[in-house]
Amino acid sequence: MRINKWIPRILFPAMVMSMMAGCGNNATNNEAEGKNEPSPTTGAHQAHWSYEGDTSPEHWAELDQLFTTCSTGTAQSPVNILHDQVKDDESLSPIKVEYSPSPVAIINNGHTIQVNLKNQDNRLVVEGKTYILQQFHFHLPSEHELDGKHAEMELHLVHKSEEGSLAVLSVLIHSGSENTALNQLWSLLPAKESEEETPVEGNFNLNGLLPADLHSFRYQGSLTTPPCTEGVQWIVLENPVQWSGEQIGKFAAIFPHDNRPVQTLGNREIDSDE
Ligand SMILES: [Zn+2]
Repeated sequence: MRINKWIPRILFPAMVMSMMAGCGNNATNNEAEGKNEPSPTTGAHQAHWSYEGDTSPEHWAELDQLFTTCSTGTAQSPVNILHDQVKDDESLSPIKVEYSPSPVAIINNGHTIQVNLKNQDNRLVVEGKTYILQQFHFHLPSEHELDGKHAEMELHLVHKSEEGSLAVLSVLIHSGSENTALNQLWSLLPAKESEEETPVEGNFNLNGLLPADLHSFRYQGSLTTPPCTEGVQWIVLENPVQWSGEQIGKFAAIFPHDNRPVQTLGNREIDSDE
C-alpha cells in the first residue's frame, strides 16, 4: 500500500483515488475525527495508513506530507492522564450533554467501526461553547491511559462547532456487564471494510453509551488519526462504562488493535472539573 506515496496525487480526482485504495476517504468512511473531506490543498486522496507494519503510527508522518503534524505537532493525542498531575479547576463548569434517540448509520471504514449521525440535534456544551455530534467510533485497547493503564476499549464521540472546531468526548470501556443499548448497533457490526454505510433501523439511544457521572478531564489535543490536526478540545470522562466480554470480543474480532500510542504531554495541562 506504500505505493500510494509515489502516485502524483494531484493528478487524481478524489473519487478515482477512493476507489483505488483500501484506505477510504470520503464523507462517510474516513475515521479521522471530523476530517472527512479530501485534502484542501490537492483535492486528493490521503495515503494509506494503519496500526501496524510499514504504515503504523510511528510512520504516519512519512506517508504523506499532509501528515507531518503527526510527528512535528506539540499538542498531540492521546496522552497518559496521571491523576497526580491533573489540576482540579473549580472554575470549570460541568459539561452539558444533550443527546436524544437519533437516526444513525454504521460503517467499517477500514480503521474502525464508525457510526454516523443522521441529524444535527445532539449537543455538547463545554465552557459555554456548543458543539454538535457528527459521528462516534471505537478504539481497542483505549488510546488514553489513566496512570499508565489502558482500558479495554475507548469510545470517541466527535462533535463540531458552528465555526468548525472539534470537541471529542471520550468514554473508557471496561469489561463487565452487558451494555444493552449497544446491541442495536452490534447486531449489524460490519466485518468488512466498505464504502457504503448501513442504516440502523429506528432511533439509537445515545445516552446508553454514557456513564451516569459526567465528571471529566479536559485538555487541548489533536485528532488521533492522520492528519493528526491540532486544536481539538478533549473531554475524557473520569468514569468508565461497562460492556460484556462478548461485546468487546465482537469488535476485537474485526479490529484486534486500533489505538495510537500515547503522545508527550509537554507543557500542556490537564484539568478536572471535580
Ligand atoms: Zn478516535
